[in-house]
Formats: sequence, C-alpha cells, structure tokens
Amino acid sequence: MPDLDQRRDPGGRRERRRAARRAHAFDPEPYARELEAIIDEITTSPELDSKRLDRILKRHPKNGTGLFSRAELIAGFRHFGPRRASPLDASAWVARLRLRPVRTLSGVTPVTVLTKPYPCPGQCIFCPSDVRMPKSYLADEPGAQRADDNDFDPYRQTWSRLETYCNIGHRSTRSS
Ligand code: SF4
Repeated sequence: MPDLDQRRDPGGRRERRRAARRAHAFDPEPYARELEAIIDEITTSPELDSKRLDRILKRHPKNGTGLFSRAELIAGFRHFGPRRASPLDASAWVARLRLRPVRTLSGVTPVTVLTKPYPCPGQCIFCPSDVRMPKSYLADEPGAQRADDNDFDPYRQTWSRLETYCNIGHRSTRSS
C-alpha cells in the first residue's frame, strides 16, 4: 500500500512541476536586444492597444519566431528599465501593458487558498474525490496545483498567487 505522500504525489508529478518551473525561470539577459527595443516602443506608445502591442512584439520576436509573454516583458522591464532611462516608472510602464479591465481593478485581488486534503463526512454523489485534494477539488485546477506545490500552506499559497499577479502586471496591493 503506497504511503500518503506517494498517494498525494503519484509518479512524482508535483516534484516534476517544481523542477520544470525552476528550469523555466525566465532570464531576460539573453534577449537584451529584443526586450530593450520592445521596452522603448511601449514607452513611446501612450495609446497602446492590443493590435499595436501585437505589432511591436512581432517586430521583435523571441528566438526569431515566438512572442514574448506579458510576464517576460515585465521581467524584462524590471531588468533593463533602469538602464533604458525610461521616463516611466515600473508601475506606469506595467499599467500600459494592462490593455483591458481586469479583476483587480475593483481594488480586490482574489486569491484562492485551499485547506489540507481532509475528508468530508458528506456523501454527495456528484462531489469529486481526489486523495491529494480537499473534498470536491480536482488536482488539475490551477488553484489546486498551487496549493499542492505549496504543501497547502496558506501563507505560501497567498504569496505565490500574489507573485504571479505581480509578474503579469496586476495590482497585488490594496487600493481604493
Ligand atoms: S464537500 Fe462534497 S461531499 Fe462534502 S458536503 Fe460538499 S458537496 Fe457534499
């Protein structure tokens, strides 16, 4: 009979996810030429919309063909922004990338936090059961994966979600 750790992480999927994330941590330095060009164009485009952003990204592709993700652009600005002497500070520049209203604009930043996988005395037949998750949650949902990756620690789940919000340019502080 596999022990609880093995049942919660069959085949070591959680460990593989963590290793993949470490391996794919984005380093902007090899893309200095493309990212600095994109940073300059976005800085000088006060009326940025999705079509214009698309054109900028296509003019300076990643590895010759791909497009930089928003998280990579923001990582690039944090890395190269100071030496580009941009007239915009980081929050103004990131705000320019926020092309449409987002959930965080209301001043509320929603964060999903899951409890540890304790069972439920309920017997509802429609309710999913997954030994790795609290009753009614499935392990392939993003919030559930984040909970699993952080050992269901509420502080780490919250930190990790806020970090993701920051990386993609959303506000993660309380605002009015
Ligand atoms: S968690 Fe699932 S089993 Fe428990 S009460 Fe809710 S629906 Fe029913």
